[in-house]
Amino acid sequence: MTISGDQSLLREINRMAIVRAVQQGAGLSRADLAKATGLTKSTVGLLVQDLIDSGWLCESDVQATGAIGRRPIPLGLDGRRLAMIGADVSLEGLSVLAVSLTGEVLEAASEPLPGRRPEDVLPRLAVLVADVVAKARSAGRWLLGVGVGVPGAVLDHQGTVKLAPNLGWRDYSFHAVFSAELAACGVADLPILVQNDYDVAVLGEYEFGEAPLPDPLIYLGLGVGVGAGVVVRGRLFLGADGFAGEVGHSILQVEGPVCSCGRRGCAEAFIGQRAVSTRISGRADDLLPVETIRQLLDRNDESAHLSVRRAGHYLGVLIQNLWTSFNPGRVVIGGPLCDLGPPLFDAAFSCLEGFSRDCSLPLPELRLARFGSRSIGMGAAALVKHVLTRPMDYRLCDR
Ligand SMILES: [Zn+2]
Repeated sequence: MTISGDQSLLREINRMAIVRAVQQGAGLSRADLAKATGLTKSTVGLLVQDLIDSGWLCESDVQATGAIGRRPIPLGLDGRRLAMIGADVSLEGLSVLAVSLTGEVLEAASEPLPGRRPEDVLPRLAVLVADVVAKARSAGRWLLGVGVGVPGAVLDHQGTVKLAPNLGWRDYSFHAVFSAELAACGVADLPILVQNDYDVAVLGEYEFGEAPLPDPLIYLGLGVGVGAGVVVRGRLFLGADGFAGEVGHSILQVEGPVCSCGRRGCAEAFIGQRAVSTRISGRADDLLPVETIRQLLDRNDESAHLSVRRAGHYLGVLIQNLWTSFNPGRVVIGGPLCDLGPPLFDAAFSCLEGFSRDCSLPLPELRLARFGSRSIGMGAAALVKHVLTRPMDYRLCDR
């Protein structure tokens, strides 16, 4: 690991160490930051001034303490000047947000998916992103970059989509093509980052959550696909090939029902939208919209209740397996199936409580996704913040 001589990288590492320390403990003073980062007070003073000038940090009002002498000035992240663009490519449609450093949505645009082929999707996504970029800039925002969440495994931060089964994409150079499309729309000056949808969703929870943040943090997404994003020790955990978190394809029952991946008995074949749908309608080729399933539940349709409660039970089993695999500080549950509400979650909790009783251990904290249907767009914006504030990690591992 040799970085000597690269003064600009060293400076960036120190600047971003200060940003991360402020994020973990809003209200820290310059003296607190010197203690937290190990940098000298004079270095912290210079870097904090630079971060204030460039829109990352702001000074808050000094609290009256009654103490005599110069009072330390509390620092916080500045939500007023910088912004990130987050794009969500899903089977339901395209959605693009401009998001402040502190997680406030500034601009939003969306439209239905124009087809499933990349040559249909990427040009429209570029138009939407360019539109949101122009609006954010005309509102005076300085943009840091564009993040994109896609429903598939992404190999690396260069943005090759290894496999997106529900879109039918395989080994697709998303980053290269999208950069060219965006440049053709007049946006060629922003870094672009591409990552799996549930991997970015966990970053939305992590980067825009209240400190102190639980760690490990897991986002479990429930839709047609079932998958997880995992943050361990403050970093996205991707695995050797980017497949980490594909828990929808962990086996819950050997020789169980056939899954979309070809294996049998995967979690997705019990919990996913297609599994719930098939149990209700009796037809494997049928995919009932979540709204339809919810209406059936509201009408006390017995088959809908049985099917959703069964999915909920297996959801409990899947969370139990995540619990023992990661010992998470918090598990966040998101995705469209959350709209099914108590019939799904009551069954999951009662299953989990059983496991908890059996082994006499308290369950990890469980929460619903903070940003609901915007979890992936917010997460894609958070991906930009996550990467920029870890210049060491991403330079050494991914560039
Ligand atoms: Zn599977």
